[in-house]
Amino acid sequence: MTQRLGIFGGTFDPPHVGHVVAALNVKHALGLDLVTLMVAGEPWQKTSEGNVESAVDRLEMTRAAIAGIPGLIAGDDEVRRHGPTFTIETLEKLSRTQPDTELFTIVGADAARSLTTWHRWQDIALFSTLVVVSRDGTTPMAGNNFDGVRVMIANVDASSSEVRGRIRNGQSVDTLVAPSVIKIINERNLYRAVNDTTEYR
Ligand code: ATP
Ligand code: MG
Repeated sequence: MTQRLGIFGGTFDPPHVGHVVAALNVKHALGLDLVTLMVAGEPWQKTSEGNVESAVDRLEMTRAAIAGIPGLIAGDDEVRRHGPTFTIETLEKLSRTQPDTELFTIVGADAARSLTTWHRWQDIALFSTLVVVSRDGTTPMAGNNFDGVRVMIANVDASSSEVRGRIRNGQSVDTLVAPSVIKIINERNLYRAVNDTTEYR
């Protein structure tokens, strides 16, 4: 039987409830067998803007964020590969190594808006069905250049930027991030201002 696999790529710096809710909603809406939260090894569009935590830390936080949730897994393919991370290379590899798997590329609203800046973005449709997670139905399907599927979800007001900002300012993040992820953030002193040793909860 063909497996239906969703690839939900991101920097996951750190992973938060919005990521998990989006992945689970797409899984249910499209009857996917699995959704992989695919951690970008070298997110070239973000590293040019500033600091990104190490791929190892982001991968371990992502594993922690989805631990015990059936149907969600954390993917390390892009962390293992060297050089800038291109989703199309991940899709090409999966279609080669798992020819019986039907692939779905899942993106949120902001990623959908900038999809045309991705490396070989037009080829994504050759290897997968584009899935856009939308909060209000108005999210463009990659500038309307793309056929695809839209999955409506309730708005989860969370972003990794907000989480990083709150930690930097000494505010709690317990409504945004899983306890197991907060534990890693504390143990490894991620995101905080220099000389700050507060235990975040
Ligand atoms: P940042 O704030 O640094 O941009 P982010 O929260 O957008 O981080 P990413 O790792 O950049 O997290 O996003 C990975 C994917 O998750 C993207 O497709 C993005 O659109 C989607 N996403 C992020 N936050 C949410 C959310 N609250 N609800 C649904 N999808 C989301
Ligand atoms: Mg983002």
